Amino acid sequence: MKILFVASEAAPYVKTGGLGDVIGALPRALAKRGHELLCVIPKYNVVDAQKHGLRDTGRRVEVQFPTMTAGAHVFVHTPAERLRYLFLQNPWYDRRELYGEGGRDYRDNHKRFALLCAGSLEAARQQNFLPDAVHAHDWQGALVPLILKRGWAGRPPPVRARSVFTIHNVAYQGVFPREAMSELSLPGDLFHPDALEFYGSLNLMKSGLVFGDKLSTVSPTYAKEIVESPETGAGLEGLLRHRRNDLVGIMNGVDYERWSPESDPDIEQRYSAQDLSGKAVCKAALQREVGLTADASAMLCAAIGRLVHQKGYDILAQALPAILSRNVQIALLGTGDAALEEEFTNLAQKYPGRVSVQLRFDDRLAHRMEAGADAFLMPSRFEPCGLNQLYSLRYGTLPIVHAVGGLVDSIKEGPDGWGFVFTEESPKGLAAAVDRALALFKNGVAWQAAMRRAMGRDHSWDRAAEQYEALYKGQPAIA
Ligand code: ADP
Repeated sequence: MKILFVASEAAPYVKTGGLGDVIGALPRALAKRGHELLCVIPKYNVVDAQKHGLRDTGRRVEVQFPTMTAGAHVFVHTPAERLRYLFLQNPWYDRRELYGEGGRDYRDNHKRFALLCAGSLEAARQQNFLPDAVHAHDWQGALVPLILKRGWAGRPPPVRARSVFTIHNVAYQGVFPREAMSELSLPGDLFHPDALEFYGSLNLMKSGLVFGDKLSTVSPTYAKEIVESPETGAGLEGLLRHRRNDLVGIMNGVDYERWSPESDPDIEQRYSAQDLSGKAVCKAALQREVGLTADASAMLCAAIGRLVHQKGYDILAQALPAILSRNVQIALLGTGDAALEEEFTNLAQKYPGRVSVQLRFDDRLAHRMEAGADAFLMPSRFEPCGLNQLYSLRYGTLPIVHAVGGLVDSIKEGPDGWGFVFTEESPKGLAAAVDRALALFKNGVAWQAAMRRAMGRDHSWDRAAEQYEALYKGQPAIA
């Protein structure tokens, strides 16, 4: 099959979260299975063309807006056989961040990502890539299914294909004032609650949910959660329930070429389930690097992620006094809400040598934290899939997770388990789970057995790729 991907980020070129990891890895898994893949993302100025070997195709695509035409210069990179990434370059993408600054989204995001959606289909046609299926991701890619059905700016769609729309996080919907409809020359008849309207505003994610032939999200439990209530479905639960028969949860995989302690170039010493000795070396190195006391007997817990309400780091902050009454160390890596950044900075000052806080985006440190920590904390309030718990498993770093979304689907606690799961969304619930982890940690033999079970879990992309294939063919999803 020929499959076109449209998304707003892809590792290793540009990544702010799990979406980037997925768009970097799933196309590769599909190409390995014999499909031909074309993936289109914006060429933000943070994309380092030289480092990644991008080539200028010398071609442009043009996208019509009511008062102007936006052009994009097309770059290409071919990282593997049957796998190409195209990059659309336009001054709209040359900003400090991808989506917004200082806690505010860029106001012209509807235009920036309409250019991506319409431009991707145009670029595919120009490359003579006539897809069997187009896979669009999150609200930034959500106009794609609409354009495939209705065309763009009064013209028919540049290509015809079945569409699959994937929700990576239903909390981010791309909501804009009503005027954005006309700024994108979207037909007025679509401004009603059964189509793109959302309480008087334009909701771009609805475009994917209404017009996508098949819908998916990134874990089976999250697929159930988002139809349940206004809290879990963020106001889209009714529409999602309506489309239930076309909606499936497919668990994300892991790019084990990048995330394996056997081959990780960024860690102090490599190790494997057969020979765990390198992990202690990585732990000592991490303690040195992030300013924690050198103490092999302390249980070192890592946390990595966006410092936002969703991730529950405020719950972690409140649980810290209880957690730190035990021999536990905390290493946090993240950026996000100013208030949380400040709170953790204060905590690091209050508990020197025991709490380390690194407020930046650092992919290589993320690898060293996965390798060096004993346990990994994910107190998320909701978690569509979560990738760090999957990486943790591979590194024998036992996840301590809240029982939501993809965390439920991937982590099991108990005599045969490979992590710790708490249901009570509170500092008490988290601290109790850390205590259970500590009890096992003190029994070195049992802890190592759990580590080996964790490392033996298989979350490779191949299984997910097979499930997506069914959707691309328009078949019911494979459970
Ligand atoms: P989300 O997509 O909601 O942010 P995921 O767990 O699905 O959460 O994916 C987050 C990805 O981003 C992981 O690969 C994680 O390691 C990475 N990440 C998040 N914050 C940072 C950071 N500050 N430094 C390095 N990597 C980070």
